[in-house]
Parts: sequence; structure tokens; C-alpha cells
Amino acid sequence: MTRNFSASLLAVAGVSFGLSAASLIAQTTKPDAAETAMVRAVDAEAPAAAALLEKIVNINSGTMNLPGVIAVKDVIMPRIEALGFKTRWVPMEAFDQRAGDLVAEHACPAGTGKCGKRILLIGHLDTVFELNSSFQKYSIVPGTEGKVATGPGVVDMKGGLVVMLSALNAMKVAGTLDKAEITIVLSGDEERHGDPTTVSRRDMIEAGKRSDVALEFENGSRIDGKDTVRTSRRSALTWTLESTGRTGHSSGVFNDNLGFGAIYELARILDQFRTQLREDGLTYNVGFVLGGATAGLNDTKTGGTANGKSNVVAPTALAQGDLRTLSNEQTARIEARMQAIVSDHLPKTGATIEFAEGYPAMVETDASKALVVKLNKINATLGFEPEGTVDPRLGGAGDIAFVAPYVPGLVGTGALGAGAHAEGETVFLDSLPKQSKRMALLMYRLSKP
Ligand SMILES: [Zn+2]
Repeated sequence: MTRNFSASLLAVAGVSFGLSAASLIAQTTKPDAAETAMVRAVDAEAPAAAALLEKIVNINSGTMNLPGVIAVKDVIMPRIEALGFKTRWVPMEAFDQRAGDLVAEHACPAGTGKCGKRILLIGHLDTVFELNSSFQKYSIVPGTEGKVATGPGVVDMKGGLVVMLSALNAMKVAGTLDKAEITIVLSGDEERHGDPTTVSRRDMIEAGKRSDVALEFENGSRIDGKDTVRTSRRSALTWTLESTGRTGHSSGVFNDNLGFGAIYELARILDQFRTQLREDGLTYNVGFVLGGATAGLNDTKTGGTANGKSNVVAPTALAQGDLRTLSNEQTARIEARMQAIVSDHLPKTGATIEFAEGYPAMVETDASKALVVKLNKINATLGFEPEGTVDPRLGGAGDIAFVAPYVPGLVGTGALGAGAHAEGETVFLDSLPKQSKRMALLMYRLSKP
């Protein structure tokens, strides 16, 4: 669900760098023999990795195209098995009308917890591009000298699946995977998750509780030519507001008998949201409103129909919007304040608000900052520039937030590109081996007891 953002936003939004360049140079260490072997393995496999990306991008796996999601799983799962993981497919169609989740485990031969950090790798097999999208195929973007590719999910996040597999393959080749404890959970419904999340995210949350660190292979961003990573994500959820009122001839509106009607009540609430709730890191958008003598949602709850007359006081109205916060505490506090505003009715009206289950927030912690320091030491070893972290106000919510209460993590360790979720999304092909090297070395260093 990681969305990219416009260049104009980037100009104002800070990318912060935890370490000064000077301190990084001081910490530069040469790669050891295993690290050198992993770097070579990634380079050797790069053409095959690019071919795999093309192959899986050309399989439509829109979230609701269940056979397509399963077809991508059928390409990925044997490759994970071949690396020595025990895999299982958890079908979800019967529970929440989604394809399912792929779970894979690589045990530590010496026993759990004896291979350094227990590592959880998170990702997804689906994309936002369903079968009815006109965006279906992989191609190289003309005029980029073969360096940029486009296709549905090419960066969000089939590129990330390829980065993950190449990193694990390099570890296998170098003999470092054998000394690592790694769990992989790939959901089939990240872009439109099944409900309730206690079911649709059960395996991911359980794996999070048994892990020490999480790496989410969603797309990252290259900003002004610099690669970035994330340690935080905002939450995202949907709310539905419904108001009611007495109906009658419009000449009586505002009087003691008729009161204000449902539409004025809805407008009061929305305007008080606008003027009373604003704070740092918080946004709440109104997506659509309906109101009148009748107002009803369509089957997909993405709109509806309303009827009324200008001389009749409206008895019903509704609005739907979203809410995005920096923390789950902020979500709870703002929901309570919205409830209080909703309850303060105009005369002879009523209203209720419902908050749907959405994505929680992931907040930066000292432990996740320490992971960025570790990553930047690896960048120094590899001769790459240090990576800064991106403000959570930019970009969307994501699966890693479900495990964030249990385990620190890095977000956006997959492919780098632009325009995710829009037709024409692109990937910088050089980012695939670059990210694979970073992640192979990171998992190796995390696995040292
Ligand atoms: Zn995604």
C-alpha cells in the first residue's frame, strides 16, 4: 500500500539522516569473506532476477483476482522452498474472500533464538491493478537505456519479492542462510485487506510475536537521487457518518417542531471536524456526502444515490471519509473527539459515526533507529551513500504496522521506483541488486549470535 508522492511534496518534506557523513567514513569496515561472496552472488544472479520480475509482473494479481494471486504464489513458493524453507499456503477465501497467505520458516539449526536475531520478512503478492485495469504488462520505459521498467506492481511490490529472493539466494550461496532464523509472511491481500484482521493478519501477527526484527519489502523511494528507507507509517481507516432529522415543509425549518434536518446536522459535524480537530500529523478527508429525502450507499460503498426536494426538510444524510494518524494513541484520541462532536446535535436531529477496521500506525522507536544505523554501516561497507528516513506524513499505511507493537522494523527495503498505485508505476532496475546486497548483509549481520 506504499504510495509514492510528488516531487513538489518532496521539496518541502525532510528526509532525515541519522548519521553525519564524517561518522560514517570513520565506521567504514571492509566486507568479510561471506559478505564478499554474497555481493558476488547478487551480481551473478541479477539477470535472472530481472527476468523473474518480468515474469511475475506479467501475471495479473489484483487483490480480488484470487487465481492470479495464487499463480504468483505458485512461482514464488517453490523458490523459497528450494532455499531450505518449510512453506505453507494458508487459503483465506472461505474466511474473508481473499486468496490467502504464504508462510515460510527457516529454522536455526542450533535451536530457536540461537542464530542471533529472529528475522521476519513481510511482503505481499497482490497489486492494486485488477483484471479490468488497462495496465497489465511489463515493459522497459523508452529512453531510459534499459534502466527503468514499468508494469503493474513492478515496484509495489513484485520488485520487493525479487529483492527478497535474491538476498536470500546470496545468503544460501555464501553459506550464511544456514546460520539464520528467518520467517517469511507474504499476504495475498495487502492492497485491500480482508476483515477481520484478527483472521486476515493472524499468521503475520503470530510471526511478529516470535521475531526480534521485521523487514518489510515494500517499495522505497529515491529522492533527489538518494535512496531512502522508513521506520514509521501512518495509520489509515475509513469512517461513515450518518445523520437523521424530522422531515416536513421547508417553511418550518429551524422551528421548534421540525428543527434543522439531517443535512444541516451533517454539515455542522463536518465543519466542526474541519475547524476543531486539526493537529500535527493528522489528516481526515471527506470522500463523499449524500443527503435528502432518501440517501443510500451502493453495494461497494463507494458512493450511492440521494433524492430530495428543495422545499422538504431532509430526514437523512451520510458522509464517508478517512482518518490518518501518526500513532494509535492519536487515533483513539481523535476518534473520541469526533464522537463528542457528532453527539452534540442540533435540535431535533441525531447522528452516529462508525470507524471501520483499518491499518494501525507504526511509530519510530529507538530500536528502529538503531536498525537504520546498522543499515548505514552496511552502506559504508558496500560503498553506497547513507540512507535517510522519510517522514511518515508522506506515503501510505502498510502491513508492517500490524507487527509493530511486537517488533522493531524497517519499511521499504524492496525495490525503489516511482508512481506506485498509478498506471505507469516504475522501478529503477539498478535498485534491485543494490537492495538485495543491503538486505543480504543486514540479515547476515543480524544473524550473528
Ligand atoms: Zn504494497
